[in-house]
Amino acid sequence: MKLLQDKVALITGASRGIGKAIALRFAAEGAHIAFTDLRDDENMQALVKELEGMGVKAKGYASDASNTANTEETVAAIAKDFGRIDILVNNAGITKDGLLLRMTEQQWDAVINVNLKSVFNFTKCVAPIMSSQRSGSIISLSSVVGVSGNAGQANYSASKAGIIGFTKSVAKEFGKRGIRANAIAPGFIITDMTAQLSEDVRKEWAAKIPLHRGGTPEDVANVCLFLASDLSSYVSGQVLHVCGGMNM
Ligand code: NAP
Repeated sequence: MKLLQDKVALITGASRGIGKAIALRFAAEGAHIAFTDLRDDENMQALVKELEGMGVKAKGYASDASNTANTEETVAAIAKDFGRIDILVNNAGITKDGLLLRMTEQQWDAVINVNLKSVFNFTKCVAPIMSSQRSGSIISLSSVVGVSGNAGQANYSASKAGIIGFTKSVAKEFGKRGIRANAIAPGFIITDMTAQLSEDVRKEWAAKIPLHRGGTPEDVANVCLFLASDLSSYVSGQVLHVCGGMNM
């Protein structure tokens, strides 16, 4: 029996990067996949095809996770198309880095809205569905910098720290309905997001990591699978660090 056989998973911002790796990992364990991304483009279509080729139901939805009305419509459509939602992965995220004194209001608002408000949007829409099913697993992508802070990332760190407080509150509010809520705090993971960093910054990061390498999206997806599945049936309100030991 596969770990997520016939479960329905909703993953935000999953056309590429960590979200895509999570979608593929879950599908390999038998989950049907509803995923969102800003645009219905070739990445979205290619992922739908790849997932369907793995024998599961899959559909991509163009949706801005930071937009509340858009999220309500999207979750309603997914509930109609798939009949239930067992797993929610709040993955969509962006960076707009800059030192605080140079950070604009636009940089602050964009990162807080896409990274944190999106988690409120999707969790609020999905929680009633999971409540009526009396079970569910909600996993949100935080970051090690949400715990440790990072110069040049005041907006991003604040959004990721906010996810941790939000996750613990949801775990306390919804535990009695059989819903678990946990966060993952990745460290330095090799995706388009970190590809923007200079070679020097990447070398500096690697030197701080006891395992002496950046993580892969699959490293994160494996931990997400644990939190999504019944293997973690007594784990809620926790933050799992996936950072090669960088944060301890
Ligand atoms: P990524 O490669 O930049 O991918 C981010 C995805 O989110 C893209 O598919 C993007 O869509 C989508 N997205 C952006 N804004 C959106 C919105 N408003 N609505 C819906 N989707 C949106 O990032 P990643 O590295 O895979 O990161 C995934 C998550 O892990 C993020 O929350 C990130 O903060 C977190 N994380 C990453 C690292 C790391 O080292 N990579 C470390 C810690 C935490 P488009 O393709 O349309 O842009």
